[in-house]
Amino acid sequence: MLGPSSLDHRLIRRIIKQKKHNNFVKLHNRGKIKWNDKSLSALKQEIRLALRSQQEGRCIYCRRIVKIERRNAYEAIEHFLDKSKTHYLKWSFSCVNLSLSCHPCNIEKSTRDMGDASVQVSPCYTSTAGEYKWLHPYFDDYHSNIEIKEGWVYKVKPNAPQRTRAFNLITECKLDQICSIEAHSEKFLNSLNRLTLLMGKALEKGQIERCRRLQQISLKLQHDFNPLGMPVT
Ligand SMILES: [Zn+2]
Repeated sequence: MLGPSSLDHRLIRRIIKQKKHNNFVKLHNRGKIKWNDKSLSALKQEIRLALRSQQEGRCIYCRRIVKIERRNAYEAIEHFLDKSKTHYLKWSFSCVNLSLSCHPCNIEKSTRDMGDASVQVSPCYTSTAGEYKWLHPYFDDYHSNIEIKEGWVYKVKPNAPQRTRAFNLITECKLDQICSIEAHSEKFLNSLNRLTLLMGKALEKGQIERCRRLQQISLKLQHDFNPLGMPVT
């Protein structure tokens, strides 16, 4: 299983309810300070660490490992119900609204409204407040609904209890494209490894000209795959 079936809100709730964070949360929920205000940094870091541990370092949607980078560039604190929408601002620090997602999933989700009209006007954030569009990180069981097969192939399970939500997550978050992206990447790395092997053999035999030609092919391959010339890892 890649990550937990669903998240447990209790630890996140304990973090948010700490006295030292209380006033800042209230100020934010009243629209007095923005999400990026420095006074919220310590709280957000505590939430991030707790979620990272609970999610086993994986994105809540695609379940791939999230790369840890400076300023958390690849790891976003995800609000299932988008905090930029006025009707969800009050749930910016709701313990069932927070999870971590990878950068690509965060971009795909963007500001989509994950709740229907009932959720939008509901005074409470519960599993029965209305219909949610994607599998909910706290209310739904990911692994009962989605199977991730080898090569990152995502399938809705035959008896999925939340079939529509699972289907929407796979298609709208474009999880169904990951398979071909991963295959392309694997093909590139295999070609690169093969060329490196051939270059080594050519060098051993003193075939300098052949080695040079192979190196040119290798450089072209890397350029075509990675036109910005970033280091290949
Ligand atoms: Zn993801």
